[in-house]
Amino acid sequence: MKKKYKILLVNPWVTDFSLYDFWVKPLGLLIIGSILKKEGFEIYLLDLLDRHNPFLIEHLSEKERRKIRDKKFSTGKFLSREIKKPEIYKNIKRKYRIYGWYPEIAKKYLKNVGKIDFILVTSGMTYWYPGIIETIKFLKKIYPDSTYILGGRYVFLCQAHAEKTFEDIYLIPEIKISEILKKLGSIIREGIEYSSISFDLYFDYPVLRHFALITSFGCPFKCVYCASNILFPEFKTFDNDYVIELIERVYNSKFPLDFAFYDDALLYPPERAKELLRKIIEKKFNLRIHVPNAIHARYIDEEMAMLLKKANFKTIRIGLETIDEEKLNKEWSKKINLEIFERAIFNLRKAGFEEIGVYVLIGTKNDTPDSILRTYEYLYKKRIRIYPAQFSPVPGTCFFGKNKDPLLTNKSIYPLGNPEIGFENYEKLKNFAKILNRNLDSSYPFKELLKFLYK
Ligand code: SF4
Repeated sequence: MKKKYKILLVNPWVTDFSLYDFWVKPLGLLIIGSILKKEGFEIYLLDLLDRHNPFLIEHLSEKERRKIRDKKFSTGKFLSREIKKPEIYKNIKRKYRIYGWYPEIAKKYLKNVGKIDFILVTSGMTYWYPGIIETIKFLKKIYPDSTYILGGRYVFLCQAHAEKTFEDIYLIPEIKISEILKKLGSIIREGIEYSSISFDLYFDYPVLRHFALITSFGCPFKCVYCASNILFPEFKTFDNDYVIELIERVYNSKFPLDFAFYDDALLYPPERAKELLRKIIEKKFNLRIHVPNAIHARYIDEEMAMLLKKANFKTIRIGLETIDEEKLNKEWSKKINLEIFERAIFNLRKAGFEEIGVYVLIGTKNDTPDSILRTYEYLYKKRIRIYPAQFSPVPGTCFFGKNKDPLLTNKSIYPLGNPEIGFENYEKLKNFAKILNRNLDSSYPFKELLKFLYK
């Protein structure tokens, strides 16, 4: 039955020191929006981070269009404007920006939508909340009489802060879909039924060069720093045939070029992953597949590596974090060790993967520039690309105290992580990783390249 309300779903602006479009899509918002659409509500989508929307592109200057043009595998930069830094960031020597559509273009875009009953805004990283404040401020000028509802990760992880910051807005501090719908139903006073997850809201994107899905919630490991177990204490997977159907429907109607799995544990359990990969291969999708969240080396045996290659995975990232075995055992819940890692690299190379990237975590307890450099040296000697990942403490883990400002979870902030590394050292280590990556095919010894570190 047709439901009476008009609902605007909003992926808000992001405020940060940097942001790059690695196939990001607001997956939670799309799931909820797809269910609401199926239920008969009149749904509108405003994704302020959609770089491919023709309406946005039409309203940009040639220079701006060039700026957000696709780079490798449909990734790219977002539009952005520099804004004043919050006081807490005053010592960070980087520009603070708001990312996404310019307000005047968004306003024009919304011109023909008419009256809206409910505005449902999602939230991502906890330290992006100033972007939500700006988004809601902007929308309230256009829709002063609508009812505003805010959900997503920030509200779930920082409920008390969200209650203080968004006093006049309904909050949904839930993460389970059934709970979100229950709460949402009570706010809009309509029953919302759902039987399965769908991503039909992808059809509302006028142009879709890339898209993303998840096939599972959570992770079987319990690394002490990670939010995965707080968000999804129970590991759950979707049925493989259902996942294939989801991919196929979007693929056949929107012709995207790239696709990303945003799972925390795509390869677990390995038999499920192998079956999924075989089904992708059978379908002969002409899609380049990516795994920005890293995959577990533990499950990359010879067969898995071959299947990943045949399925056309392009971006392989492994979360090694460190070569310090004690840390790997204690803090990373034995998800990996060097033997497992080296076997995975061997299998991936045998399958034909030339470019393999590895995340190295920087800034955790006891990290020093020397300990990071030991991991760098190990990887450089194995001709593996290094992707430095800044440590940021997640609310809900033992590394983040109660009542702290979520802005302190920004990865560009170090006092909470490790002052020994600090901002300056991190920048040097980050740039040094680029130098090493550029020299992977050279015969320069690591020790010789070290001279560029402190230049
Ligand atoms: S393996 Fe990765 S996703 Fe899983 S808990 Fe550890 S860090 Fe989080």
